[in-house]
Amino acid sequence: MRFSEPHVSTYLMKCKYCNKRCHKCGRQANGTQKYRCKSCLKYQQEVYSSQIYNPSVNTKIIALVKEGVGIRGIGRLLFISKTTVLKRVRQIASGIKRPVRAYGKTFEIDEMWTFCRNKKNEQWITYIFDRASKTVVDFIVGRRNTESLRPMISRVLQLSPTLVATDGLRVYKSIIPNQIHSIQPYQTLRRERNNLNLRIHLKRLSRKTINFTKSVSMLKSILKIYFWS
Ligand SMILES: [Zn+2]
Repeated sequence: MRFSEPHVSTYLMKCKYCNKRCHKCGRQANGTQKYRCKSCLKYQQEVYSSQIYNPSVNTKIIALVKEGVGIRGIGRLLFISKTTVLKRVRQIASGIKRPVRAYGKTFEIDEMWTFCRNKKNEQWITYIFDRASKTVVDFIVGRRNTESLRPMISRVLQLSPTLVATDGLRVYKSIIPNQIHSIQPYQTLRRERNNLNLRIHLKRLSRKTINFTKSVSMLKSILKIYFWS
């Protein structure tokens, strides 16, 4: 099979930033044609040799994050620097919104302990799992107190759930109405989760991520990609 060459000369270069038309404007030291946007005046190229400008890189980063590959590992596999991976992960995550759609009516709230930088800096990943869709519908990273958990639990209560299962941590009892709150032994929640292996995955994910990024905001970005992209 033969592929025809792309007709670069007839292609009108659109600005990568504002989508207006660009005009040719000199060359890079390596001879690559430079363009400049008439509207926002930014310089740009049609083709970049660096991997990071390849749009498929985002797709690859998402896939690797979901496999639990750490930041450095992603950099090594895609031939881009660690700094660039971090920047791109943040960028991808900032475009991901909490899913808005019809949920089931039964939820489980579960927590996972982790830490940032050192074990003294404890962080908990608390997440809400929708039994019907078997997906995580919300999560927070931080402490396990009323103050930090209340906003997330309020959001789940707004979905008028018929049952919210937790491991019975005291803070839940004060926020979740008694009649819909089901306290299940730690083991039960884990066993029901068996087919999904979410916890195993999550553990792997947070461990590898924490090792390399050492930041809570990065962990949040990683989890957003993991759950919702
Ligand atoms: Zn422009």
